[in-house]
Amino acid sequence: MRATVVDGRFQLVVERGLIDVHIASSGRFGPSIDDVLHNWHDFLLELPILLAAPTHRAQDGATDGLLTGSRQVFAVGLNYRQHALESGLPLPTVPLVFTKYPSSLGSPRGTLELPTDAVDWEVELAVVVGPGGRNITPDEAWAHIAGFCLAQDYSARDVQMAGGSAPQFSLGKSFRGFLPLGPFLVTPDEFADRNDIPIGCSVNGVLRQSSSTADLVFDVAELVAYLSRIVELHPGDVILTGTPSGVGLGMRPPTYLRPGDVVETHGGMLGDMRHDCVAGDPPFGSTS
Ligand code: ZN
Repeated sequence: MRATVVDGRFQLVVERGLIDVHIASSGRFGPSIDDVLHNWHDFLLELPILLAAPTHRAQDGATDGLLTGSRQVFAVGLNYRQHALESGLPLPTVPLVFTKYPSSLGSPRGTLELPTDAVDWEVELAVVVGPGGRNITPDEAWAHIAGFCLAQDYSARDVQMAGGSAPQFSLGKSFRGFLPLGPFLVTPDEFADRNDIPIGCSVNGVLRQSSSTADLVFDVAELVAYLSRIVELHPGDVILTGTPSGVGLGMRPPTYLRPGDVVETHGGMLGDMRHDCVAGDPPFGSTS
């Protein structure tokens, strides 16, 4: 199943158009994606009937940000083997977890404000949690995953690395619009191999990142299990699974986004994102 959000309303995506889930279910599910995620198990039982409902719109309207109500957003560093090599660092022995604050959630289309001159791109596969829980085993993990979506983990490297021995990952990656998600939520059964999902991104038409989640150090089920041993997962929580090689930080010299640059992010069945970079307000009022 593929789904999206238009004007805050959860929509199923079928070949002939979009199905508004709230209307199709006579008000039982939705209209928000958060409501559907909180009732995910019942929603899946009803899904075959909902998929046969009349469509209300053409597919083209599917440009909104997917999630706005996530309570927790987890991100994982150095989780692609090739990216760890590029960084010159050994493969991690446990997932390296930080957070992006949910106020950074944004739209898959539109402008990206650059608050500093060191904003980098990081294409990622995002896991969207359906039924939450604690102490979920790797075998149980898939039952807690509503689906996948495409993400960018935009990162202001100067803010991220400030602080020396205590780098500020969470703040450096949480400016406005630094976590665009979408345009589609896709259930794992749609993929030929749910552990081999291609993602990539281009800057000004030049391909910078291209990989597959088959290169993950800790796969999706392991991440869900690991996190849930420590924190409770809630419906709508997001887990960013890491970025492959090819970020601007890894270039010689490091190369970051400039006003006028265009970032196009590709996710096959997950859809595409496009962001037009514009100058933003500097975070500390400096004009350097
Ligand atoms: Zn990342």
